[in-house]
Amino acid sequence: MRRPSTHDAIVIGAGPAGTSAALALARRGWAVAIVEKSAFPRRKVCGEYISASNLALLDRLEIGDAWRAAAGLEIRRVGLFSGDTSIEAPMPGARSGSAARDGFGRALGRDILDTLLLDAARSAGAEVFQPCRAVAVERDSDCQTVLIQATGEKSSDEATILRAPVIVAAHGSWEPGPLPSQLAKSSRPSDLLGFKAHFTGSSLPPDLMPLLTFPGGYGGMVLADHGRMSISCCIRRDMLTRLRGSLARERGGHVSAAEAVEHHIMATCRGVREALEQAHLDGPWLAAGPIRPGLRAGYEADIFRVGNVAGESHPIIAEGISMALQSGWLLVQELGAAASGRGEREAAGRRYEAAWRGLFSTRVLAAEAIARIALGPGGAALMEAVVCNFPQALTLGARLSGKTKPIPGLADGRVARGR
Ligand SMILES: Cc1cc2nc3c(=O)[nH]c(=O)nc-3n(C[C@H](O)[C@H](O)[C@H](O)COP(=O)(O)OP(=O)(O)OC[C@H]3O[C@@H](n4cnc5c(N)ncnc54)[C@H](O)[C@@H]3O)c2cc1C
Repeated sequence: MRRPSTHDAIVIGAGPAGTSAALALARRGWAVAIVEKSAFPRRKVCGEYISASNLALLDRLEIGDAWRAAAGLEIRRVGLFSGDTSIEAPMPGARSGSAARDGFGRALGRDILDTLLLDAARSAGAEVFQPCRAVAVERDSDCQTVLIQATGEKSSDEATILRAPVIVAAHGSWEPGPLPSQLAKSSRPSDLLGFKAHFTGSSLPPDLMPLLTFPGGYGGMVLADHGRMSISCCIRRDMLTRLRGSLARERGGHVSAAEAVEHHIMATCRGVREALEQAHLDGPWLAAGPIRPGLRAGYEADIFRVGNVAGESHPIIAEGISMALQSGWLLVQELGAAASGRGEREAAGRRYEAAWRGLFSTRVLAAEAIARIALGPGGAALMEAVVCNFPQALTLGARLSGKTKPIPGLADGRVARGR
């Protein structure tokens, strides 16, 4: 066991939530450690669309221009591909701040986005421990310790101890594990498993992001960077088991989960079939989950939680990256200049939870309602009927999901730089 190294804050996980918190803290002069179990760049199950509402934050974190230079084209139309139906409507544009300058969201591969964010945090002074897994959090007088172990090629049982008063859990919600902030394992027939792939040569219009519905699941498609089309979806565990079984019988051999998912979406959704007609798979399909939608604590057992750990919306609204980036920022606003005592941290935790709920609860609930309809019996047909008669429902849905909601204190420029 190596001697503890002491920081002001330890952030566990370098997804968008962890890196936005680490970057904002480092820019305020905090000594920050960030622990990430995977080597970057790495691909990830995610649709990769980012709403324009985040641009003010990315600019404040001084990575807006790098993001603009790397991301795909503006997504100006939202659509629904369901059965033989393909409908589209205008995407609502952002109304204020630098988001208004850009107006619309865009997509950027998570291999590129997450590396960009982590590099920025490192340049701002955060100390990065990667690839290293956090395996325990323990109290040590008024500080806490995080035990980390190297993973990958240099994996070892030897633990390094990091020590800090502030611990931020940003490890996502899809993997069970020993940390107090990790969720218990789940395995129910109704669980939703996530899948994602990149294709090149797709005929999907570069400014259109359709929502996909198909029996037992939902998904989305969007053109990201370098001509890569990102297709991602969630499918019920029981439906996937049935599909694999029937396809294996039909083909007389083993069928992977990804093969079954791709076959099912292509067979049941004309818009996907047409968009992928001339396209080529770019890299393997990825799988993750089950996803864990819902509202959770933002501060518990003296650990602050950001991103999916604090709460998660069904990805049917493609707002998880926004919530991750913005929750990291919200937390840093509430942590203040110092949070060295437990009482101060508890007060900051209460303020942060209130701010989190004010900004995100509506979209989590809206996503839950839309997902229930999409997954329920006759739900896809109902959505098709509504959207065929009233395409603006798509625009309204996108607005309700928070796509144009400004980040408090950023869009109106009231928060001074470095506050
Ligand atoms: C099918 C699907 C499509 C989606 N599409 C979109 C979309 O288009 N737009 C959108 O905004 N959102 C989308 N989302 C949601 C989005 O991907 C997540 O909400 C977002 O990634 C959450 O960010 P995070 O930083 O909280 O966690 P993550 O991105 O999961 O990052 C957590 C990080 O922590 C690391 N980690 C985990 N455990 C440990 C440990 N013990 N020690 C050290 N490191 C650890 C992981 O390696 C990972 O890098 C989609 C989700 C799914 C399932």
